[in-house]
Amino acid sequence: MEENAQARQATGTGEGVDSQQGGDVLDMAVIGAGPAGLTAGLYAARAGLDVAVFERITPGGQLGQTEHMENYPGFPEGTNGYELAFAMKQQADRFGMRTVGEEVTAVDFTQDPKLLFTAFGEQRARSVVIATGARPRRLGLELEEELQGRGVSYCATCDGNFFRGQDVMVVGGGNTAAGDAIYLSRICRKVYLVHRRDKLRATAVYHKRLEDLPNLEFVWDATPRKLVAEDGALAGVRVEMLKTGELRDIPCAGLFVAVGTQPNTEFLDGALELDETGYIVAGESGETAVPGVYAAGDVRTKGLRQVVTAVADGAVCAEEAAEFLAI
Ligand code: NAP
Repeated sequence: MEENAQARQATGTGEGVDSQQGGDVLDMAVIGAGPAGLTAGLYAARAGLDVAVFERITPGGQLGQTEHMENYPGFPEGTNGYELAFAMKQQADRFGMRTVGEEVTAVDFTQDPKLLFTAFGEQRARSVVIATGARPRRLGLELEEELQGRGVSYCATCDGNFFRGQDVMVVGGGNTAAGDAIYLSRICRKVYLVHRRDKLRATAVYHKRLEDLPNLEFVWDATPRKLVAEDGALAGVRVEMLKTGELRDIPCAGLFVAVGTQPNTEFLDGALELDETGYIVAGESGETAVPGVYAAGDVRTKGLRQVVTAVADGAVCAEEAAEFLAI
């Protein structure tokens, strides 16, 4: 296998990873293989379009790191995010969607066909669906980066097991923080849930479940101010009680940061209009200001960022793109 192909295979799962790039002009290039991108790929492939999905890591996006989902219709007992993502990919593959295991690092939407650039070359496409999603936001504390992988984590289902039987802290008050705290309470000795207000943003269904956990302590009106390290690993977190200004040192081996997400839009470098927080400005049909370029899922401006709305976006964008291509 030639070197580039090896590298490309290594970035994907190896499942259906294709190395076709370059000469051909795709009907549709999808950037990002989360639920939005995979659904755009499914709808485009079923509509007979030549479609390839570009993915830098593994298909699934944030969904692939979700242990248990209860609000995706059709699964009375809930479902595992990774399995759902894998099934979405297999379904799209069956209709001929191709996957390219390469990261799109730049785009040029000033010409037709549009251009996508990766470390391995360029790809031309008559339409583009951007479905690059979002990544966890950092707290911005000193040592946060250095201690990532040594106590600081942004994914409870990925790293929770490293803290089995130990005390951990979750920061945030949204659905991610709530889900992480519940998940970690089954593995860890004690979970501190630190939130900057005295009311969770998380969906009501989580509240009672959290209150009923015997090994969970809410730390309300508080925010982390300092990470304390010992022997190169996290040993504790100093939090400020925001109503009193008092500082409290909480010993813990793990800190799970769940304070929201940040869109993956840096690679666009001015090619599309972004809102003040970096999300792509797009209409309900995913259309951007550039004809033939659409945005689907968490990466675009929208009210509800969920898997179910991401897949809906993917379907709508693919249909819109198919109509655009037919003109
Ligand atoms: P989110 O809903 O934006 O919540 C972020 C939380 O972090 C908020 O409670 C916020 O506090 C807090 N926060 C933000 N910046 C902070 C800072 N600098 N310091 C301390 N706390 C900070 O984010 P999310 O929970 O990651 O969820 C993202 C989206 O995915 C949401 O739409 C969510 O509904 C969805 N999601 C859904 C599920 C599910 O349905 N099962 C699971 C996970 C995520 P405030 O409340 O004070 O603003």
